[in-house]
Amino acid sequence: MTNQPETSTIRPSQWKDFTGQPQVVRSLQIAIQAAKSREEPMEHTLLYGPPGLGKTTLAHIIANEMGVNLKVTSGPALTRAGDLASILTALEPGDVLFIDEIHRLNKPVEEALYPAMEDFAIDIILGKGPAAKNLRLDLNPFTLIGATTQAGKISSPLRDRFGIVHRLRFYEPTELKGIILKAAKKINLVLDDESALEIAKRSRGTARIALKLLRRVRDFNLVEHDSKSNVDITKKSLDFYEVDDEGLDATDRRLLEAIILQHNGGPVGLETLAALISESVDTISDLYEPYLLQSGFLSKTSRGRVATDKAYSHLGVSKKE
Ligand code: ADP
Repeated sequence: MTNQPETSTIRPSQWKDFTGQPQVVRSLQIAIQAAKSREEPMEHTLLYGPPGLGKTTLAHIIANEMGVNLKVTSGPALTRAGDLASILTALEPGDVLFIDEIHRLNKPVEEALYPAMEDFAIDIILGKGPAAKNLRLDLNPFTLIGATTQAGKISSPLRDRFGIVHRLRFYEPTELKGIILKAAKKINLVLDDESALEIAKRSRGTARIALKLLRRVRDFNLVEHDSKSNVDITKKSLDFYEVDDEGLDATDRRLLEAIILQHNGGPVGLETLAALISESVDTISDLYEPYLLQSGFLSKTSRGRVATDKAYSHLGVSKKE
């Protein structure tokens, strides 16, 4: 059986392997260099943007550049303040703690995080009721990197405690092409430039999707074409996986069709839409909607989501007046 390299094995750990997001990269490089010259941990950093754009990867690179350990957890995994305390007390000086989906921290954990971020200390309550005692534990200085797909859901006290805040944007096809070619090399896959660009154009501006499609194309070429690769085979393979030439997948198209065919183009509320296509509200708002909005297939109004003219023409449906 051959090994199926997962994205983690091709996750960059150095700047030279991280493509795009030039402003974010430059600003983080400056923050790292300044922190290193002051011999301090880097400031707490919040990264936000749709899934698959490189937030976790940046945390790996930052920890690597700072020469410290990285501890990875997520908002939903930290159910009690005690979970957070045990992670924080185990950190070594300067370590990076990465909390993914930080908007999903519950209130007690979030409140326990405030003194940790500000004073590198954590308050532990011993006992219950009137006899309860507050014990303050000092922590090693550390850097918190928070990641979220929903910056709007982060409370302002938490947000204000991050010294550095960056939004990651969707990648241009040429940037994704670079990411695809580098990843292909790492998994010893011969891929021509044209095929890489074709995959890039159909990846919804997202690095994770580009890498996923690359693996599907590799499988398709192996099984159907004896590992031969050219742009026509790549196109066939992408069509086989139902990714169209605008990068929309079957769910994107179902979503637009639901608005157009069942609601005459909208507006449709997010919850109705979720029920129509049997997806969760969060999946639509985190995963599908951002790209459809940014690429002009969908617009958002106060009364709900509306399919644009571009969506009608892409699906080949004429508008009812
Ligand atoms: P997020 O945390 O934003 O959901 P990840 O950091 O997990 O995204 O990235 C998803 C995948 O895409 C990973 O395999 C990662 O290595 C790759 N990736 C993301 N951004 C880049 C980039 N700028 N250059 C190269 N690979 C990237």
